[in-house]
Amino acid sequence: MNSVDRSRPHWSYSAISQYLRCPLQYYFQRVLKLPSGTTSSGLILGSAVHPGLAAYHIRLQQQVAVGPTEVLQAYHEEWAQRERAETVVYKDGELRDDCIQQGEQLLKLYLNEPAPESIVAVEQRFMVPLKNSHGDYLETPLVAITDLVTSKGSELTIQEFKTSGRAYGNSEVETSLQPTCYVHAVQESLGVEAGVQFTVLVKTRTPKVQRLITSRNVADCGRLGDLVEAIERAVELKVFYPVESPLNCSGCAYRQQCKDWTSQSRSENDSSELVQLAEAACSLS
Ligand code: SF4
Repeated sequence: MNSVDRSRPHWSYSAISQYLRCPLQYYFQRVLKLPSGTTSSGLILGSAVHPGLAAYHIRLQQQVAVGPTEVLQAYHEEWAQRERAETVVYKDGELRDDCIQQGEQLLKLYLNEPAPESIVAVEQRFMVPLKNSHGDYLETPLVAITDLVTSKGSELTIQEFKTSGRAYGNSEVETSLQPTCYVHAVQESLGVEAGVQFTVLVKTRTPKVQRLITSRNVADCGRLGDLVEAIERAVELKVFYPVESPLNCSGCAYRQQCKDWTSQSRSENDSSELVQLAEAACSLS
């Protein structure tokens, strides 16, 4: 599998989906690189569950005994590390200890499920070129990190883990670009087709595990390349605007900057970037 140059500019599912969700948030985070400072409890829980799952899957792959202790330790360490690095924003009436306990419950629930077999890779990072529907490669590559890859005979399954406050609908998985990114990454890197399974750890009053299966083909991967090409052009042309919705804005870390944003402030920013470029060019000559 590919070794990865982490410093190289690249696309990722989160960058692509962030631009599609709200180009202005993309601008604040990825162009201006403004620190976010705050993260919602739901995001922290989701990101803390992942090291717990990885600790479990790695030990299964190594055929080392594993139980809740090692898994929960990895979970708590990640939660503590995130708390030190940023401010966690809880919903009204939500308590920190309840959130932490909810993550523990989800992990214990998953540990009671049949363990995945024939593990090929855990938290594997791929860096691969993107290709448009004409077969032309894009200059900026795609980075995709798969939670888990398993095999059955010659077939590979990429497994993606989610935490969610509600069960997923089939259409969410069918239309998501995330499986497309994974399937393309595995195809380009290993030369094989792979299926995708979403495992959703649902944070309902009685937590449950939901599994959804999906697939992508060559045409889907070409369309992903076309889409990224279009986003690249939009970013080059500085097309950044707010997409206001309760879903987008309630957990957004850039609400103040967004309030201050106007199309005029944007053109001032752009012109100050032009001035800086002009000054840099003058100092070189
Ligand atoms: S507050 Fe809403 S519209 Fe503004 S940047 Fe954030 S997500 Fe976008």
